[in-house]
Amino acid sequence: MNDQRRYVVIGGGLAGLASAVWLAEAGRQVTLLERRGRLGGRTHALEVAQLHDVPDNGQHVIASGYDHLFRYLTSIGTREHVTFPHSGVLRWPGGRATTMGTKGFQALRSLLGAHPDASAADRARAALATVRMGWQCLNQPADLADLTTDQWFRRLGMPPTAREALWDWLALGIAAEPVRQESAKVFADVLATGIRLGVKHRRAVSIGYPTTDLDTLFVTGAQRLFERTGVQVRHRAVARRILVRDGAVTGVLLADGETVPADAVVCAVPNSTLGGLLDELPEHDEIYSAADKLGFTPIVSTNLYLDRPLGTEGAMEALIGGAGVIDQVFDRQRMHGRDTEHGWLYCLTTSGAYAQIHKPSHEVVDEQMALLRRYYPAAAGAKVLHAQVVPMPRATFSQVVGTDGLRPAQRTSVPTLVLAGDWTRTDWSATMESAAQSAARAVELLLALPAPRTAAAR
Ligand SMILES: Cc1cc2nc3c(=O)[nH]c(=O)nc-3n(C[C@H](O)[C@H](O)[C@H](O)COP(=O)(O)OP(=O)(O)OC[C@H]3O[C@@H](n4cnc5c(N)ncnc54)[C@H](O)[C@@H]3O)c2cc1C
Repeated sequence: MNDQRRYVVIGGGLAGLASAVWLAEAGRQVTLLERRGRLGGRTHALEVAQLHDVPDNGQHVIASGYDHLFRYLTSIGTREHVTFPHSGVLRWPGGRATTMGTKGFQALRSLLGAHPDASAADRARAALATVRMGWQCLNQPADLADLTTDQWFRRLGMPPTAREALWDWLALGIAAEPVRQESAKVFADVLATGIRLGVKHRRAVSIGYPTTDLDTLFVTGAQRLFERTGVQVRHRAVARRILVRDGAVTGVLLADGETVPADAVVCAVPNSTLGGLLDELPEHDEIYSAADKLGFTPIVSTNLYLDRPLGTEGAMEALIGGAGVIDQVFDRQRMHGRDTEHGWLYCLTTSGAYAQIHKPSHEVVDEQMALLRRYYPAAAGAKVLHAQVVPMPRATFSQVVGTDGLRPAQRTSVPTLVLAGDWTRTDWSATMESAAQSAARAVELLLALPAPRTAAAR
C-alpha cells in the first residue's frame, strides 16, 4: 500500500483507538492526538499503589453481541481476557438470592420471570408481554419515541415481578437512565439489535466481563500495535479545530497554536467536548445542537476493599430495589482470580446516579456500605480497608425521551472528515460496542476514498 496521506485521529478512547488500529492495519500513516496523558478515555485502570492493585474507573460489562469490540480485541491480541459466565445473581435485601441463567433453558426461564415470588399467572403474563415486546422492537409503534421505558412496560402489561427481576435493571444497564426517564425507543432499538444478532449467531446475546484491568484489555495491546506499525501517539495534544479548505481536510489546530497537517481526520471525541472542533464543517450548527441536546448522564463507581468476603454467589450481582436505581456489585476475586492479601475488592456501579454524583466520597462510601449491609449478612461487621469513589458526571450521553434521531452519522459533507464515538449513530446505546462500531464505520468511509492522484497521472 503506497498511500502517503496523513490520517489524524482525535481522541484516544475506544473509538479513537479502534480507528487508529484499523487504519494502521490497512497500512495507513496515522497520528493519534489525545488531550490527556493516558489512553483509554472512559475505560481505564486506576492504580492503588499502597494495595498493589489495579481496579478500574468503573466496572464494564460486555455483551456477546459486541462484534466490533471483539474485532478490536482480536486486532490487539487481548480477546482471551473476556469471559461469559453461565449465570448472574439477583439479590434482595436480607440476603435472598436467585440465579439468573444466561444460556439455554435457564436463559428462557429468566426471560419469563426469574423472580422467586412470581406466580404461575405472573409467568404467563411475563411470557405474553415478552413476546409482545419482541414483536414491537422489530415492528415499532409510531409513538414509541414519545414513551418512557416505564410507560412502555406498563402498556405491554409486563408484571411487576418480571420488571423487578429483569427488565427494569436491564433497561437501566443498557441506557444508564432510570426507566421513568429513559426513551423506550432507545431500549427497543438495542433489544432489536440483540434479537438480530441472536438470529445471526444462532444463540441468545449474553453478558460477560473482562478478566483483567481495562488498560490491559484495551490499551497495552494497542500500544504494541502502534509501535509495530509506526502510529505516532501524541499525549496532551488538545485539538481545537479541524481545518477544512475547498471541501477537504488540511490539518488540525491544537490548543498551543501548532497545526498538525492532515489529509483525513477521524474526530472521535465525546459530544461533551466537541465545541469548536467542527466550526469549519458546513453542517456544524446542526451537529453541535444535537451534541448539546444529547447531554450527559452520571455514573458513580465505588471500589471498596473490605476485610472479609461478602459471601457473593456470582461474579456479578444485581441488587434489586436497592437505592432507587439498581446498584450492581462486582466481585473482583471471582472475576479476576485476584488474591486477597490486601482485602476483598468489590466494585459497585450506580447508573443514573443523579442523587449521588454531588455527594462527597465519604458519604458515598457510607451509603454503599449501608446498602451492602442490607443485602449481605456477611457485611454486618465488615471494615473498609480502602475506598475509591469515581464520580463520572458525564459518563455517557443521555438517552432520555426526546433524544431519538439526534445522533449524527459518521459521514459528514467533507469526505475526508468522519465522526466516531459512542454518541454517533450506531445500532447500540452508549456502550463500548457503539464506540467500536462507530470506528469501524468511520474507517470504512476513509478507506473507501479514491486513491490520491499521483504526479504522473496529473
Ligand atoms: C463508569 C462507566 C461504566 C460504563 N459501563 C459500561 C459497560 O458496562 N458496558 C459498556 O459497553 N459501556 C459502558 N460504559 C460506556 C463506555 O465506557 C463508553 O461508551 C465508551 O468507552 C466511549 O468511548 P469513546 O471512544 O466514544 O469516548 P471516550 O472514551 O470518552 O474517548 C474520547 C477521548 O477523546 C479525548 N478528547 C476529548 N476531547 C479532545 C480534544 N479536543 N483533543 C484531543 N483529545 C480529546 C478524551 O480525553 C478521551 O480520551 C461505561 C462508562 C462509564 C463512564
